[in-house]
Amino acid sequence: MLKQVQFGNITADVVLKDIKNVHLSVLPPIGKVRISAPSHMSLDTIRVFTISKLSWIKKQQRKFQEQERETPREYLDRESHSVWGKRYLLKIIESKSGPQVELRRNQICVRANRKLDKEERQKIVEGWYREQLKQNAVELIAKWEKVIDVKVSRLFIQKMKTKWGGCNVATKNVRLNLELAKKPVECLEYVVVHELMHLIEKTHNHRFVAMMDNFLPKWRGCSEVTPSSQTEISAG
Ligand SMILES: [Zn+2]
Repeated sequence: MLKQVQFGNITADVVLKDIKNVHLSVLPPIGKVRISAPSHMSLDTIRVFTISKLSWIKKQQRKFQEQERETPREYLDRESHSVWGKRYLLKIIESKSGPQVELRRNQICVRANRKLDKEERQKIVEGWYREQLKQNAVELIAKWEKVIDVKVSRLFIQKMKTKWGGCNVATKNVRLNLELAKKPVECLEYVVVHELMHLIEKTHNHRFVAMMDNFLPKWRGCSEVTPSSQTEISAG
């Protein structure tokens, strides 16, 4: 059942469902506000709750606007790109061999044996991000499979718009957002642990949160980096 609440110049979608707590999300790309609330809760109560979170909502919306200004990337010389939470300047180098990508001090160098167009540069850089993410994710999954005592079938790395990761409990397949390669590696670890935990606990209930606290006490610090900013856990 979909309803809406209005406050100031913000219209929020409200989804009433069989849950215990109110979940407030600010979604990319434009910072749309979505509220999931218990079915019995009145729209007035929901509005009061939402207004109490107004400064947080505005902050999340500003973040999306800033991100929006950063894009789209042209993959040109001296353009800024993040790798594992650190900024690098892109450098395009014509060389005898390639294509090849490497990090040097504050540069991310793309070598190729001919002039590349934008699509080719993008494809090479994204392919490199994919490799970096895969390498780290495979190691982290192996580490946490032992700790949590679960087994992942397959890992998929994808471009995802609203989530950092996902887990299919039936097939035991884990999906990770390619963008994670741009964030601090702690964020990847948080998402990996979160998704692996779903193999023993499907929902974000108290047991889930208690286990996160137990396994990764610092996980709450990572909630700032979720692509869809939520007041609750949002790794999917
Ligand atoms: Zn989840």
